[in-house]
Amino acid sequence: MKKIFAFLFICLYTVIVYASSQVLQKVSIKNGDLQLVFDRDYDKKAIRYFPLANPPRKVFDIPHTILSKNVKGRLSSSKCKSIRVSQYKKNTVRVVIETTEPYKCRTYRPLVDSSIYCIPLPRYYNSSSKVSNKKSKKPLKHKKVSKAKKQKTNSYIIPTRYTKDLIVIDPGHGGHDSGAIGGGKMEKHLVLMIAKKVEKELKKLGYRVYLTRRKDVFLKLSQRTKVADRKKAKVFVSIHANSVPKKHSHLAHGIETYFLQKTRDAKSQRIAIRENAAVLKGAKSSLSKKVIIDSVLNGPKIVQSNKLAIDVQRHMMYYLKQHYRGVKNGGVRPAPFYVLVGASRPSILVEVGYISNPKERRRLFTSKYQDYIAKGIAKGIDSYLKNRKKELDL
Ligand SMILES: [Zn+2]
Repeated sequence: MKKIFAFLFICLYTVIVYASSQVLQKVSIKNGDLQLVFDRDYDKKAIRYFPLANPPRKVFDIPHTILSKNVKGRLSSSKCKSIRVSQYKKNTVRVVIETTEPYKCRTYRPLVDSSIYCIPLPRYYNSSSKVSNKKSKKPLKHKKVSKAKKQKTNSYIIPTRYTKDLIVIDPGHGGHDSGAIGGGKMEKHLVLMIAKKVEKELKKLGYRVYLTRRKDVFLKLSQRTKVADRKKAKVFVSIHANSVPKKHSHLAHGIETYFLQKTRDAKSQRIAIRENAAVLKGAKSSLSKKVIIDSVLNGPKIVQSNKLAIDVQRHMMYYLKQHYRGVKNGGVRPAPFYVLVGASRPSILVEVGYISNPKERRRLFTSKYQDYIAKGIAKGIDSYLKNRKKELDL
């Protein structure tokens, strides 16, 4: 009788343990990361990490986890000596990454899928791993270091191929298309001035920059976006200035950042119609706009574009608010802008302010105000790319 109870107890225990456990379904190497795929969202904080020396190893213990039979116990990679995955305890999976030299990495969970856990593998063994180990003891951790210092200390951690990323900046309108006009001032001139300042700021941060126009010329829609695709740019940022009819001109002001998405929001639609008008005139008649828009609207880039928009908007506000009063944060919004269609990478459209508002117009046409906007856009792009680097599938 006792034996039967013991047996039943073990059965019950096993059922409970297994039912509450997640399953580690797949382990593979993707984009230089060791990628663990679970059958559900996992608790990232529960994963225990500790390093071991001689030989250098990174050990990850994942509790409440059952290893699927499909997962191989050993994976080979040219980047490290060995990668081992095992059911370390009844309910704990252990992952061990053994390398020839210790290295630092930050594990992460991709934005798009919260059932995946990524552990970056060493990438630059032979180049400068010794140097970076010596120097990089601090920088990876702190957030409170001043931005300038952070930039400096990070420069040797971020590999060169990262800092040479190409950014496409698109100053809106141009040529016969003047864009919005207020008090005799034209949007096309303003956005070109700001775009050139953004270029300068981005170059300071180590990026390569391509401006869709450097002069007062009109560009076709395809010239604006295709260049971004052809040049393998990381992000596409179109710069515009806003306006409203005269009777509202004193009321409407502020900065807004848009990403491409269908929306019912009346304000977004109104702005999109205005910005789209000139661009569409330059588009070929054969271009089936609806088809193109529909094909990208549900693309994976929307999430990334939204994130990029948030970072850029936040940084612009940060710099402007320090020096100016009453700058309105118009927020991040979705809008169906044609100029963003076709750019198959994170793409946003920034409305730097209302050219129709006398007070804001005065500010917009000062070099200083433009400097802060440009700095905000550049820092926003930089912040987005650094934070999301691993999650981008570009
Ligand atoms: Zn515009």
